[in-house]
Amino acid sequence: MRHIQRRIALLALPALVGSILVATGPAGADPTGPSAATSRSQPEDRESVRLVQIRLTGADMLDKVAAAGFDLEHGLRRVPTGIEGEAVVTAEQVTELTAMGVEVLADDAGFAWSDQADGGIGVDAAGARAVEPSNHQATVRIARADWFTTKGQGFLYVEARTTEGQQADPIVGMQVENDSGKGTPFGFARTMSRFVDSGQYMFHRNLFKLDTRPTRIQVTSSTGGVTTGVVSNWLENAPPPLTANPSYKSDFVDGYKHPQQLYSRAKEIARQYPDIAEIVYLPNQTNGYQRKAQAQLGGTGQAAVVATSAAWGHEGGNDITVEFVDRPDANLPLAVEVTGKAVRVLLATDAAGAPASTATQVADALRTRSAGLIDRAHPYRTNEGSGIVAPTAGPVALTDFLDQKRVGAPEGEVPRGPATIPVLRIGKHRDGKKPGVLIQAQDHAREWVPATTSLESAERLVHNYRSDRETKKIVENTDIFFILSNNPDGANYSFYNFASQRKNMTNHCPDASADPAQRNSWGVDLNRNYRVGSGHDGYAGGSTNCVSGTYQGPEELSEPESKNIIWLVEKYSNIKFMMSVHSNGGQLFWQPGAYIADGRITTPRPPLGDEAFYWQSAARILSQVKAHRETVVTPENVGGSSDVLYSSAGNVREDLYYTYGIYAFGWEVGGSVYNPATGNWQGGSFQPEWTGNPELVSGHAETMEYANGIMEMFRVAADWGKDKKDPTSRLIPGDGKYRGPVDVRFETSEPATIYYTTDGSRPTLESPRYAATEFREPGQVFHVTETTTFRWFSVDSAGNIEKNYDPTKTDKRNNYRTATITIAKK
Ligand SMILES: [Zn+2]
Repeated sequence: MRHIQRRIALLALPALVGSILVATGPAGADPTGPSAATSRSQPEDRESVRLVQIRLTGADMLDKVAAAGFDLEHGLRRVPTGIEGEAVVTAEQVTELTAMGVEVLADDAGFAWSDQADGGIGVDAAGARAVEPSNHQATVRIARADWFTTKGQGFLYVEARTTEGQQADPIVGMQVENDSGKGTPFGFARTMSRFVDSGQYMFHRNLFKLDTRPTRIQVTSSTGGVTTGVVSNWLENAPPPLTANPSYKSDFVDGYKHPQQLYSRAKEIARQYPDIAEIVYLPNQTNGYQRKAQAQLGGTGQAAVVATSAAWGHEGGNDITVEFVDRPDANLPLAVEVTGKAVRVLLATDAAGAPASTATQVADALRTRSAGLIDRAHPYRTNEGSGIVAPTAGPVALTDFLDQKRVGAPEGEVPRGPATIPVLRIGKHRDGKKPGVLIQAQDHAREWVPATTSLESAERLVHNYRSDRETKKIVENTDIFFILSNNPDGANYSFYNFASQRKNMTNHCPDASADPAQRNSWGVDLNRNYRVGSGHDGYAGGSTNCVSGTYQGPEELSEPESKNIIWLVEKYSNIKFMMSVHSNGGQLFWQPGAYIADGRITTPRPPLGDEAFYWQSAARILSQVKAHRETVVTPENVGGSSDVLYSSAGNVREDLYYTYGIYAFGWEVGGSVYNPATGNWQGGSFQPEWTGNPELVSGHAETMEYANGIMEMFRVAADWGKDKKDPTSRLIPGDGKYRGPVDVRFETSEPATIYYTTDGSRPTLESPRYAATEFREPGQVFHVTETTTFRWFSVDSAGNIEKNYDPTKTDKRNNYRTATITIAKK
């Protein structure tokens, strides 16, 4: 067997398919620049902020609302009528959102799946057309028909496409029927929901509650297409989890942990288990849990002055006072006196002896004449500063507004200043020869469960290494890198100051957004700061607005936290798997994760072999999550993140997969849980009560169940590293003589990508890649009308090539696969 560079395979573009073959693909379009951001009013302080449930009509509206600076990330889910989720907003912003067309739903913690269909739904107007004869037969294809059970309830998830889905007048309707077990007739007709994103028809999809497992479904389009499909199991009959071993140790994490606790435990683990663990320090320190000290003085609007210290607050900025002083005499010039850390601005006076300095003049004086104490001073927001500044009642202390200890937050000193992030590396053989797995948690500060989930996984590895056979296999066959919190500055801010903090603490804002009332909105979204499919390249879902929840930063990799990840995967090139752990949503993602909105041009779709490997791995991982307390991550929430949720420009997964060939997963832990008492799915939150309701929303339960999934990801990586078996493949139907046109497809023995030719040439990595009919569907079907010889080879997810063929050079053996479809002349 021979391992090829996965990167080469990824870059090989699908070439044009010969004229005998029918192929489909997305239309191309030129990239467009990101839309200009607009500013919006900001929360004045954290007390006035609240969480509301909202519904948006789709990704277009999401982009607009995010570009306007609203904080709408996470907890979002697709529903047939758009996207539902939560927003962290003030009452005033609720009004703004409503004006933008956002629907504010009932302010209720638990929200139901609005497309929940119990039993049959009447045939609507679109459905009625389905039974009318039609000359035009639309093609209908079933992408998924999945059955799963949770907490005693069965569900059927159906995803189907019609070739006429893009049609707007009349909109093509779809209906699904199901049987009630083998040999029973179809019935229970239900109307399906059409899913349109960024102006493009995606597919129809629904989740139905059913009491009996169907074996087959039938989908009918209103323009006449009909197809049937077999129902598959989703996460049913999973093998027992590691925790099934009675001697297996788990449940180590006893509550939420702030970064200091996470890092100190990581270092302790390395000390306690030196044979299998060590610390790797990331080279770039963070910009720090720190701020400049500030005050807004002199009045409001045109008269207001914003002063910012040159020194960080904890390094002297907080000791500075500023006073605007009124003097009785007439016609005095503006002057500044500095005594120690006290700055006195002696305001100019007019002929009548009244204050006469404008905000602009005072700001200039502070900036240039405060003996270096104040290096940033300006009028308030977009004001010109033409108003006359009022004297202050006395000296005003500047403050960095940090360390306002939140009630109920865990105890612990918060170190100010830059942080060095330790990586906890666990593996018996840390020599670069075992497949590396990067677990990257808490890019987003307020997401506390990802950190505890990752720590729990690390604890399970070291505590079970000597006693549990399966754990020993993991530790001996993988090289695991845990970043327990990749945003320590923001996480400290979330713990101690502002619970809803998402981004890091770096203030890239211009003067118009640099006043202290904006402080909770500064920072860079670390998962929008990477280089592939980025907002800087015109992809959607990253904002250019520095106070937006998805601010992408001034440039790609502007932040130390994202630079560190690139450093790590370049230094440890054995890293072949990564999981970017987020909350909350109950989703498991891979590529594509970003698109250019105009035309909905996604980053390149992974080859079919990678896509199949992702699905296979996802099913393994999520089966282990389910094993804990029957939490099911539903198939509609699994796949390319921009296919099932939204475009997130410049996310880390796109960069690691496309640049380094790393299988890069993202997941949203702590999502919806089915509540049999209400019959609804109950959503999660960023910081659920630690114990909470163990059957529903609980930080502890989420930590335990998702740690199961991370452990299974390690097993996926270990199996991948040991995979030395070549894939096999076949053409269906194979070699032979046929009386007329034949429909032909490939099949592989395991997730593998096929490269093929039909023009007599030897197949190489530049040859066409066997692709899906459409995304989230199986491989394409070729309609062969003339005698054709297929030449091909397959490559599995670990890089093994079928029959040890070498596609990179002329191999005398030419041991690729071949099959001839002979079409008899009439
Ligand atoms: Zn997140």
